[in-house]
Amino acid sequence: MDGQSNHQAVNLRSNVLGPPLFQRLHRARHIAVFTGAGISAESGIPTFRERFTGLWAKTDPQEVATPEAFRADPQRVWDWHVHLAATVRRAAPNAGHRAIARLQDAVERITVITQNIDDLHHAAGSRDVLELHGNLFRLAPFVDEEALFAEGRNPLICHLCGGYALRDDCDPYAGREDLEGLRLEAGPVPRCPACGALLRPDIVWFGEPLDPHVLGAAFEAADACDALICVGSSLEVEPAASIPYRAIRRGAVVIEINPEPTALSQQADAAIRGSAAEVLPALFQEVWG
Ligand code: NAD
Repeated sequence: MDGQSNHQAVNLRSNVLGPPLFQRLHRARHIAVFTGAGISAESGIPTFRERFTGLWAKTDPQEVATPEAFRADPQRVWDWHVHLAATVRRAAPNAGHRAIARLQDAVERITVITQNIDDLHHAAGSRDVLELHGNLFRLAPFVDEEALFAEGRNPLICHLCGGYALRDDCDPYAGREDLEGLRLEAGPVPRCPACGALLRPDIVWFGEPLDPHVLGAAFEAADACDALICVGSSLEVEPAASIPYRAIRRGAVVIEINPEPTALSQQADAAIRGSAAEVLPALFQEVWG
């Protein structure tokens, strides 16, 4: 607890929000829910901060989840992601993910902005989900610009995978389809059937930029929402971490849910110390129940 007058660090009990905050939240027509690895912790997926235990114990993700690592040894990086996907596939949405999805029936507009790659918000039924760091279960071409320019090749775009075509017979105007049927599973690293490019999980690796369209849509939601609920993020990864602060600057109500304090706790209207699966259903029941 920080004892600031405009801020409540609370454990969830009845009426934790106080009447003014309760009313502002209750009247909100557009709520952005910003989530990090902590919301999936109770689904059995370790957070990034727990990366040296359990799932992440053998290899530091910062060594394998990079374009440089894939360029050097695509199979090692592919195998690491296959292993990660096996854990994530076993996980199911928890009460926190489900409460966020149910909120769609109570509030005019809900935008979920997630840093997670586990697809659990979609699995819970959330419809408007912005995946800032991509989705482990989609594939994308490995765009090796370094090699492309070193070889001086003509950068045609492949109609199937959307990357730079490795074969010159790809029609750049054919329109992008998807890579249906190909998935992240054990075996050799797959290649795009049309152009031969190596495929990779469609997630943002360390050192890579975020998709500007997705990031732009997240910034727009943070700027336009009446309330933002930040769940289970240490707020240490930029540019995602700036999103709750944009909402604060635009005057939205900001509530944080996290068992631990973060840099946001001091600035949020309320910082609720507790787990996502416990606090979210109770909070939503209290305000919209
Ligand atoms: P982080 O690991 O840095 O921080 C996790 C936060 O969640 C911490 O502040 C912790 O106190 C909190 N937390 C732990 N258990 C919780 C619970 N039960 N309920 C609520 N909060 C809880 O996570 P981050 O800020 O999301 O950043 C890490 C990066 O790694 C992100 O890009 C993230 O997407 C990625 N990552 C994703 C997954 C996933 O998809 N599930 C898992 C691990 C890491």
